Amino acid sequence: MTARTHDLAAITALGVVVLLHPFGTISPSTAIIAILANQIGGITPDIDQPTAPFWRNLPITRLFGKFFDNLMGGHRFLTHSVLGLALFGFLSKMLLSFVHPLMPHTNIGYIWWAFMIGMTSHLVMDSFTKEGVPWLLPIPIKFGFPPLKALRVTTGKFAENWLVLPALAVVDIWLFTSHYPQILLLLHQRII
Ligand SMILES: [Zn+2]
Repeated sequence: MTARTHDLAAITALGVVVLLHPFGTISPSTAIIAILANQIGGITPDIDQPTAPFWRNLPITRLFGKFFDNLMGGHRFLTHSVLGLALFGFLSKMLLSFVHPLMPHTNIGYIWWAFMIGMTSHLVMDSFTKEGVPWLLPIPIKFGFPPLKALRVTTGKFAENWLVLPALAVVDIWLFTSHYPQILLLLHQRII
C-alpha cells in the first residue's frame, strides 16, 4: 500500500481502538503527540524501502534508506513481521522513556500504544496486497488476505486508490463526527 493509505489506516485503527473502547482521559498534549506517533508508526515498516516517504521526507536523502534496506533484509522482511513489531516496540519504548523528561503532561504509555497501533495497521493493510506479509519470520512464508492472490490489491493501483482509500476516509469521517461526545470525554481534564 502507498504511504497515504497507511496514514489513513493508522488513524482509523487508532480511532477504532480509542473511541469504541473508552479507557479514561488523556491530556490534550498526549492526544496530539499520540496522533503524531501513530502516523510515524503507520509508515515505519517501510523504512526497509530506500524510496519510502519516511526517508524522502528527511534531509538525509536515500543513503540511510539504502543502509536500512540492507540491514532489515530488503523490502517486506523483518519490519513486516511480528518479530519486527516486538523489536520496534522495544526500541520505541526505550526512546520514549529517554525523551519523557522533555515532554511534561504527557502519558508515554498511551503514546507508545498509538505508535504500535499505527505499525500493526501497516502490516494488516499490506496483507491485503498481492505481495503479502511475512508475519511469522523467520518462517519465510508471506501471508495475504484473501488467500487467493488474484483477489488481492496491487499497491498504488485502481482498487487501492478508488476503493480502499475512499472507504477509509468515509470510516474516519463517520468515526470522528459520530463519536464527538466520546472525544470530549477523552480530553476532559481538571486543572487542579
Ligand atoms: Zn509496507
